[in-house]
Amino acid sequence: MKPYVVAIDGPAGAGKSTLAKRLAKELKIAYIDTGAMYRACALFAIESGINPKVDSPKLRALLSDAELDFRTVKGEQHIFLNNVDVSREIREPHISTGASDISALPFVRDLLVSKQREMAQGKSVLMDGRDIGTNVFPDAEIKIFLTAQVEERAKRRFLELQQKGDSSSFDTVLSEMIARDEQDKKRAYAPLKQAEDAQLIDTTDLNPEESFEALLSHIQNQLDTLS
Ligand code: C5P
Repeated sequence: MKPYVVAIDGPAGAGKSTLAKRLAKELKIAYIDTGAMYRACALFAIESGINPKVDSPKLRALLSDAELDFRTVKGEQHIFLNNVDVSREIREPHISTGASDISALPFVRDLLVSKQREMAQGKSVLMDGRDIGTNVFPDAEIKIFLTAQVEERAKRRFLELQQKGDSSSFDTVLSEMIARDEQDKKRAYAPLKQAEDAQLIDTTDLNPEESFEALLSHIQNQLDTLS
């Protein structure tokens, strides 16, 4: 079979990353977590004392020299920024907001989108994010828009943060999620939206196993039509 792209987009907390990781393993294709790339850029800016909201010469210089790559560590995909594993730091709540801020800047998106296309060259990939089916790979063979009601998404994120020992309240998680989704949908450049030819899958009433099965069966049906 020729290399193919599976694009999974959707709002925060819909379960994209967890499902995408498992699906890529099952399909034996590469997985690229594009959110991690925006998060790593935000982390770099914030740690360097640079405002991630503003397009500035300092931010441009910082990011054009940044080395970003994914490496497998103990069977799991980790993201490295300038040769340092930042996989844990990028998951902190203030980095989620910073990632949404920095991702609205066109030069950041252009930089990361060209890296994403490069990473996918010549092989089959499953990529998740906000603009994969609309902007990064508008011709992706398979497109899915994964969503769930916002209270359910916030509940999942809240439980995940609790397990990590984070003490954010449910209301804080919910309001941050609503604000981030709004910002991602409203930005002028490559906003979060469902591609016309994407399959909508709503996981509000599905458990993780059911969600996985729903995505896998859609992907397999689509793959059958390709071969
Ligand atoms: O998916 P994740 O929650 O890790 O993404 C963090 C932020 O990165 C999102 O809120 C969004 O603003 C940005 N992002 C994006 N385009 C992508 C992936 C992520 O704008 N393809």
